[in-house]
Amino acid sequence: MPQTLAVTGFFNRSASPNYLGEWHSHPSFSLMPSNRDQDSMWEIVNDPSVGANFAILLIVKLEAGELAGSVNLFASGFDVMAGELLFEGDSN
Ligand SMILES: [Zn+2]
Repeated sequence: MPQTLAVTGFFNRSASPNYLGEWHSHPSFSLMPSNRDQDSMWEIVNDPSVGANFAILLIVKLEAGELAGSVNLFASGFDVMAGELLFEGDSN
């Protein structure tokens, strides 16, 4: 099982009206959300006590000294939506 550096519990989801999502690192494997990642995100957006209509998952790692990342949107009733993560200074 890949190592996951989850930030669960970093802040109280239900107490934050500005809850945006979760982030962690996949230091040595794919930036794609793991099955465990996806299960966790679906639990969050489908939990009425959280009150989030959607949540994003940001996964980052260093690749050859450069920051790389992926971002995915989880919204109840929809498939996972892959976003595009742009870094300041990217030419495209
Ligand atoms: Zn993960």
